[in-house]
Amino acid sequence: MIDKKHLNYFKTLVTEDNVYSDKAHLIAYSYDATRTRYEPDAVIFPRDEQDIKDILKYCNEHKIIITPRGAGSGFTGGALPASGGVILAFEKHMNKIIEIDMQNMLAIVQPGVVNMDLQKAAEEVGLFYPPDPASEEYSTLGGNVSENAGGMRAAKYGITKDFVMAIRAVLPSGEVIRAGKKTIKDVAGYNVAGILIASEGTLAVTTEITLKLIPKPRFKQTYMGIFPDVTSAMNAVFKSLASGANPVAMEFLDALVIQALREKLNVNLPSDAGAVLVGDVDGNLEDEIKFQLDTLSKSFKENGATKFIVANDEKEAKELWFARKNASPSITIFGTKKLNEDISVPRSKLPIALEGIYKIGKKYNLTVPCFGHAGDGNIHVNVMVKDKNNEKEMEDGHKAIEEIFQFVVDLEGTLSGEHGIGTSKAPYMKIAFNEIEMNLFRSIKKAFDPNNILNPNKMGL
Ligand SMILES: Cc1cc2nc3c(=O)[nH]c(=O)nc-3n(C[C@H](O)[C@H](O)[C@H](O)COP(=O)(O)OP(=O)(O)OC[C@H]3O[C@@H](n4cnc5c(N)ncnc54)[C@H](O)[C@@H]3O)c2cc1C
Repeated sequence: MIDKKHLNYFKTLVTEDNVYSDKAHLIAYSYDATRTRYEPDAVIFPRDEQDIKDILKYCNEHKIIITPRGAGSGFTGGALPASGGVILAFEKHMNKIIEIDMQNMLAIVQPGVVNMDLQKAAEEVGLFYPPDPASEEYSTLGGNVSENAGGMRAAKYGITKDFVMAIRAVLPSGEVIRAGKKTIKDVAGYNVAGILIASEGTLAVTTEITLKLIPKPRFKQTYMGIFPDVTSAMNAVFKSLASGANPVAMEFLDALVIQALREKLNVNLPSDAGAVLVGDVDGNLEDEIKFQLDTLSKSFKENGATKFIVANDEKEAKELWFARKNASPSITIFGTKKLNEDISVPRSKLPIALEGIYKIGKKYNLTVPCFGHAGDGNIHVNVMVKDKNNEKEMEDGHKAIEEIFQFVVDLEGTLSGEHGIGTSKAPYMKIAFNEIEMNLFRSIKKAFDPNNILNPNKMGL
């Protein structure tokens, strides 16, 4: 429990309205999408960077733990105050788009800006911010940068890191750093912005982000390929991309997900479909769209697709996307607990990765529906536990996850393509990194945060 004198200091500093310490608010800020709960001692809403500087300096001097928080939509516990202390939240005051610079095609934003608000503001002036996590309607750009969020459009445009040009942040000492520049090219000094991206609020508190914008493509069209099995679909992913196709998205559903969509939501997919790939192509010329669709169609068919469908209008496009967008809620037919991981492998290893993951599921007698961003090798693996109150089944679920991680790392893959490590994947960091690498991470953490006050005990540190 935080000392009253500290609470009074914060109230005097940012005004009483901007410090919550009542039970209802502490509960409201105690969770994220992991559904795990840790109550903070207080929630503070800084009004500007100066407040953040003062708060960090004070907390550093008094060893008060701080957890920065965006919308709390993270899947791995990054925003949870797992070691107590105070939460810094940005949604109340630090939620402004400071500037959209048309000439340099960039946006400068505060960390609490919601991803979709930037997308809309960019589109109003004919520009485009591609990173589109499925949480785009509520997740914040501060959270997106700290988790290096990806989205459906990553296959063509990349992920958050590909759009971050510069970050302004406050160190635990209360000092401000500027990492990166407004320039396209910048090779002076270490890439500190690169270190801050995906650092999950463990190194510094972001106060301003400069993001690259690009011209908005004029045309878009949606496609779907139906495959007899997962292996042919996974082969089609990397072979079609290598053959010159450049789709905006290439999303995957396996046979179990298709079964769940048909049973739960009556989705019109063939009962004998073993896998589906769905996505968009875009461009500025109609011929460009035609070329993309022809290339995909040819390559999908060469790799065993039984059907290649192209949406003729917005309504048909929505129908094709409905299946992918409802994959996650539909698979609850397989169990009461979903152990959901987001592994990533080099794309050419997708066929072997999926085969191995299903084998591990079978070994533990667990159903493992898989779907996700196949175009970037990032698959959501869902180990379904039928009865979450059955201890043995839960234990087997966790054993299966650990084996899947080991298998994926052996394939030169990674524990997480986009959700981060936080608290929930921390125990598995030893699978992916050796002691020398973990010690390097610890040294970086210490250089930024010698008193370990910023989101400690996250990321296996
Ligand atoms: C339904 C759903 C769908 C999702 N889909 C996707 C998806 O498609 N792709 C994807 O990548 N993720 C997805 N996510 C996960 C989540 O939305 C992302 O990780 C997102 O980037 C988190 O943003 P947030 O604002 O909620 O951050 P939070 O969860 O609040 O925080 C995330 C991390 O950022 C840190 N942080 C926040 N603000 C700052 C700051 N100013 N300075 C320093 N650190 C800070 C926090 O300490 C924490 O470690 C999804 C989540 C849900 C619930």
